[in-house]
Amino acid sequence: MSESNAPLPTVFISHGSPMHALEAGAAGKVWAALGRRLPRPRALLIASAHWEAGRPTLGGAEHPETIHDFYGFPQPLYEIRYPAPGAPAIAERARQLLEAAGLNVVIDAERGLDHGAWSPLLYAYPRADVPVVQVSVQTTLGPRHHLELGRALAPLAHEGVLIIGSGHLTHNLRELRSVRDTGVGGAEPYVSEFQEWVRGCIEAHDYDRLADYRKLSPAGVRAHPSEEHFLPLFVALGAAGEHVRAERFVGHVEGSVLAMDAYLLHSAV
Ligand code: ZN
Repeated sequence: MSESNAPLPTVFISHGSPMHALEAGAAGKVWAALGRRLPRPRALLIASAHWEAGRPTLGGAEHPETIHDFYGFPQPLYEIRYPAPGAPAIAERARQLLEAAGLNVVIDAERGLDHGAWSPLLYAYPRADVPVVQVSVQTTLGPRHHLELGRALAPLAHEGVLIIGSGHLTHNLRELRSVRDTGVGGAEPYVSEFQEWVRGCIEAHDYDRLADYRKLSPAGVRAHPSEEHFLPLFVALGAAGEHVRAERFVGHVEGSVLAMDAYLLHSAV
């Protein structure tokens, strides 16, 4: 259990498609290594792109169910369970922190875990013995709201909670389908360009510029026709505090257009 004052880093993960739960390839190996490398957290607090709500909502279940929030995939995917316990006390602590920051927040005592949470956790914490709390994203409120949300949650990183944003660095699924149909290999140039643009903003700590990615990055809108998969990155950045040292620990592209970038964001001590 990590209870020291040195904060845990925060994490952003591109979680892939639901099929990554069965076979995550190179990304899965790195997710597994991450779980072994970090000090064992008291709990995980995950902002997943697959839970959208009008206001910040925290999962408060004692035993969250595994939600299979996808359709038309092979049966073995629907048989996966990730039986990690919940952490209602951590959810309550997070609620208090968010309210202190002026955010209107609620706890949902019934909500289970979606694949944005459990798919990478199958690799990072395969024993499912670290309690998990999810927090929703508010897609219509944009990046700055999610930076604020992350900043409000930052004290938890000092209390042994590993804060994870689970989304995607690029997420244009319409293009993914067409790429598969034509069998084109290699990364689309706009994907590589967006990866580097984002990395530049993170390394320069220029979160203002990053928050305006739809205007300032040539590929931002194409990379994210809708925003929900990009917003968890802002939660992780906000929670890591100022003067973060960013370590990109995954950086490859799958299916030509799905950038799998993952970041470990080390807080300055
Ligand atoms: Zn997703």
